[in-house]
Amino acid sequence: MSLTTAQTQALGTDLRRRRDLLAAELRERLHTSGQDVPAGLRDYLGAGVDPSEAYEELADDLAWLGHETIVLRRLDAALRRLSIGGYGTCIYCGGDIPPERLQAMPAAESCVACQEAAERERRRHPA
Ligand SMILES: [Zn+2]
Repeated sequence: MSLTTAQTQALGTDLRRRRDLLAAELRERLHTSGQDVPAGLRDYLGAGVDPSEAYEELADDLAWLGHETIVLRRLDAALRRLSIGGYGTCIYCGGDIPPERLQAMPAAESCVACQEAAERERRRHPA
């Protein structure tokens, strides 16, 4: 059940669109107030602010940045697989990832069974 050329092209367009949107959002957030740091970090380092409140904002910013950076990296990895080959193939078992799964999650790198197995493994051995 491999992807057709039309499906692959549509997924590539979708991936690039998601990537550009996310990159623009990250750039905007990082340049808030003309500072190349999240606003929460700037406030936390700044004098005369309530440290607990600033810390909460900092933690939120860093959690958001960490998450968005991972998503960005996944999108880039998927685009790379799309250009060099391997897109739509599960990185664990080498089987085809069903088109419906890719349409819902264009950056998916594994089939459902392998992803669930990997998640079970992570729960058993938390980092
Ligand atoms: Zn698999």
